[in-house]
Amino acid sequence: MKTITKRILLLVAVACIFLAVVALLMFSMLTNANEYALKSVNKHIYDSNILTNAGDIVDVNGKVMATTSDGERIYNESSSIRTSLLHIIGDDKGFISGGIQDTFSSELSGYSILYGINRESSNTLNLTLDADLCAYAYEQLKPYKGTIAVCNYKTGELVCIATSPSYDMYNKPSDIDTNEKYDGVYINRFYGGLYTPGSVLKVVTAMSAVENISDIYTRTFKCEGSYTLSDGGKIVCNDTHGTISFEQALNRSCNVAFAMIAVELGEEKLNAAFSAAGLDKSHTTSDRIRSYAGSFGANAESSVTDIGWSGVGQSTTLVNPYAFLTYMCAIANGGVCNEPYFISSVTNADGKYVYRTKAVDSGINISSTTASTLKAMLRSTVSNYYGDYRFGNLTICGKTGTAERDNEKPHAWFAGFSADEEFPYAVVAVLENSGNGLTYAGTAASNVLQKLYKTVN
Ligand SMILES: [Zn+2]
Repeated sequence: MKTITKRILLLVAVACIFLAVVALLMFSMLTNANEYALKSVNKHIYDSNILTNAGDIVDVNGKVMATTSDGERIYNESSSIRTSLLHIIGDDKGFISGGIQDTFSSELSGYSILYGINRESSNTLNLTLDADLCAYAYEQLKPYKGTIAVCNYKTGELVCIATSPSYDMYNKPSDIDTNEKYDGVYINRFYGGLYTPGSVLKVVTAMSAVENISDIYTRTFKCEGSYTLSDGGKIVCNDTHGTISFEQALNRSCNVAFAMIAVELGEEKLNAAFSAAGLDKSHTTSDRIRSYAGSFGANAESSVTDIGWSGVGQSTTLVNPYAFLTYMCAIANGGVCNEPYFISSVTNADGKYVYRTKAVDSGINISSTTASTLKAMLRSTVSNYYGDYRFGNLTICGKTGTAERDNEKPHAWFAGFSADEEFPYAVVAVLENSGNGLTYAGTAASNVLQKLYKTVN
């Protein structure tokens, strides 16, 4: 009798342990379900690390960027579209980090916690990007490295992103790792680039002046081509501008006037403006991408000369193109804006939403008065100085930058937006080591905006 009781107790104990282990395993499976199903060793989706069950990725016009057929991932038939969207879509070999078929693989594969992976019908990921415009923008960057992006400043929808260099994943260059023209080829420079801004940064210095120097509009500045600061350092201008107003100083991008303004403001107020413009932070987008944080070139230890050069966008100041485009969107949109994004939704075979993007506030909060003042100054910079004819007579507000580099050609910048409420788009363009801001970045940005204008009208 004793032996039988012992055996029963032992069986109960073993059964209890077994049930506990099963319960633990089930809990772990449910809470880590995505991970279990999407581990690249899981042959249901990945075959030798190649996506084999992901759904379609389509652009704003329904053009298919990537699809799956007979277990094989197939990309758009156009080499120029494949090349220009490589960093957005990602490749199936894992060279490009942050591509959406990786970061949205769970949504794309139609994975469900209840039913697992749906092999019959996977989901469709819908972009706000116009693939043809991306391909056109990529052409405008050639032969330089750099980036161009265009965003609807009312909504935050990006219609165009291009980053150079890139490559066609179906014809990957054999010298990609040795030829310097492919330096940084795996980086999406729109999010991951950090550049000396040059004179586009004068918009930030102007913003601080508007908010901190009450008589700035009645001041005049005398530019004799260069200016010696109190510590003996010298600021050199791009021209001899003579006696000019604050607005004329921005129009003509006078380094002397802006260095004087920067020194008067001091590094603390300049850093505050840089921060208010969202340029010192890493932005987290709804597309699951983080932009690189920029940095202002002057701090409490800086010399007067460093503050002067930082205020005109030189010194060690670094700016990220995504962040600067967001800043332009905020100025265009009355002082606030959403974080730019390019994924609008994921839908299932029935057209129902599996995922829908919620606009995220950028955190930029400039007063509407300051925003409209800056808007007017950027408008006069184009209409009085660059010439509207350069922008196909669109109503453009903007600022160029020609960021000087030691022993290299300058980085050309253009940042701006259309003042037309019916065409609410902001643009940023950076062409590395190309030359003059207006000539290179201004032309590239103008071409892309004009192409977009023809598309939407
Ligand atoms: Zn000057």
